[in-house]
Amino acid sequence: MSEVLIYNLGGGQVLGRVSLGHAIRMLHRRVAAVREAVEGETFGPYQRPVSVELVRYVHTRWVYERTGRVPYSRAALLRRDRHRCGYCGAPATTMDHVVPRCQGGPTTWMNAVAACEACNSAKAGRTPLEAGMTLRSRPFEPVLADVYPHGRV
Ligand SMILES: [Zn+2]
Repeated sequence: MSEVLIYNLGGGQVLGRVSLGHAIRMLHRRVAAVREAVEGETFGPYQRPVSVELVRYVHTRWVYERTGRVPYSRAALLRRDRHRCGYCGAPATTMDHVVPRCQGGPTTWMNAVAACEACNSAKAGRTPLEAGMTLRSRPFEPVLADVYPHGRV
């Protein structure tokens, strides 16, 4: 009755059940967020959860421990590239598909670089060669420590 379902990030996959107390501790440690709550009931500062959903970092570790691969995300890409544009080195806030999506380029670590807005819009739907732009470094698939150096998001 007081068990809480744990969902993976995205809410599609049930990973297991824990006690209400365990779920509250997960909320407190910010490794999970309330997904569904019991209407009008609270538990300390939290809504009383029926189910909780893992936050991104836990999701990432969960996938990493099972596959040895870091799931791609835009936020993790910006950390992999140290928030520097792959073309000019300026502070980067966007993600660029090296081979653009309109030419069939996938959204993967090996086809993604951090980019500043100016380079991203200058390059548009072209490859670096077509756009006359040079990548400062080759995209790579990171390990967990590359994108979560402090063990957190
Ligand atoms: Zn740039």
